[in-house]
Amino acid sequence: MAEFKLIDRIRERAGHARGDVVLGIGDDAALLQPPPGMQLVVTMDTLNDGVHFPGGTDAARVGWKALAVNLSDLAAMGAEPAWCTLSLSLPRSDRAWVDGFLDGFLALAAEYDVALVGGDTTCGPLAVSVAAHGFVDPGRALRRDGAREGDGVWVSGTLGGAAGALEQWRAGGAIDPALRERLDRPRPRIALGRALAGVATACIDISDGLLADLGHVCAASGVAARVEVDALPGGRLLRPHFGNDALRALQATGGDDYELCFTLPEGADAMAAAAATAAATGVEVTRIGTVVAGQGVEAFDRDGRCWSPPRAGHEHFA
Ligand code: ADP
Ligand code: MG
Repeated sequence: MAEFKLIDRIRERAGHARGDVVLGIGDDAALLQPPPGMQLVVTMDTLNDGVHFPGGTDAARVGWKALAVNLSDLAAMGAEPAWCTLSLSLPRSDRAWVDGFLDGFLALAAEYDVALVGGDTTCGPLAVSVAAHGFVDPGRALRRDGAREGDGVWVSGTLGGAAGALEQWRAGGAIDPALRERLDRPRPRIALGRALAGVATACIDISDGLLADLGHVCAASGVAARVEVDALPGGRLLRPHFGNDALRALQATGGDDYELCFTLPEGADAMAAAAATAAATGVEVTRIGTVVAGQGVEAFDRDGRCWSPPRAGHEHFA
């Protein structure tokens, strides 16, 4: 099947339109109408075969994840998602693979009312780039640079599940389906991000591991953080498979969970805000530490002893 046939197929299946898409797939570019007075939030992420997913991964899982990692970035900005574009590099024109890919991609797009409005299709090593666009009220975006000394450090959901699945995959044994779900089908925390906009002082999504990503918040904000490693959520999923040390390492440094890590000003108001937010969005939030003066992130165990990770998150070109 030639490039144009593939694009026709994508266009046919992407059918879903929003009122603000003046012109979608089919022209030289898309024409979009942002809501008046809102700021546009733009992000892009690439998944490479054999780097971001194991070779031979089911196409629908690749499709879901390619969009999910982008929506997670919009969530971390407190944005409401609206549109996306898709660049596909395929080793050969493979309609079955593209259909599988679209099954996962469009299922997630429909869940968050995101319209696929354009893209590019080329021949080359399997790689998928997605750009996602959303809106936020001026001045309310969640940034990395607003954390202040005394703020509480919080995370959503559970940590370490995706890394646990990767660990089991590398070991060549069976992969626990609950962990596999965390790796393949991360849920972008859109509702939580929007609820935190204007409330949290800083926010980031955890793609490279909690300590590494919280480190980015600290560096941008000019502060340090202390984290209690035994307070990290998600132990219940991991405990059947991993010992205490491995479990802590997965939770503190494992990537790919796409939960939000955010800071809230200390006090009863913040606790109430966190509780209300969790109730409204159906996502648990857990306080895991405190922002302090200084530089860097330090982790402690429940007895107050300093805890060092075996490694500190994923970095390309490392
Ligand atoms: P051009 O050569 O003018 O850039 P293309 O032939 O690349 O146009 O694309 C034709 C139309 O199909 C454009 O509207 C483009 O956005 C869309 N398109 C191409 N590939 C994809 C894709 N993978 N996903 C979504 N839309 C695509
Ligand atoms: Mg053109």
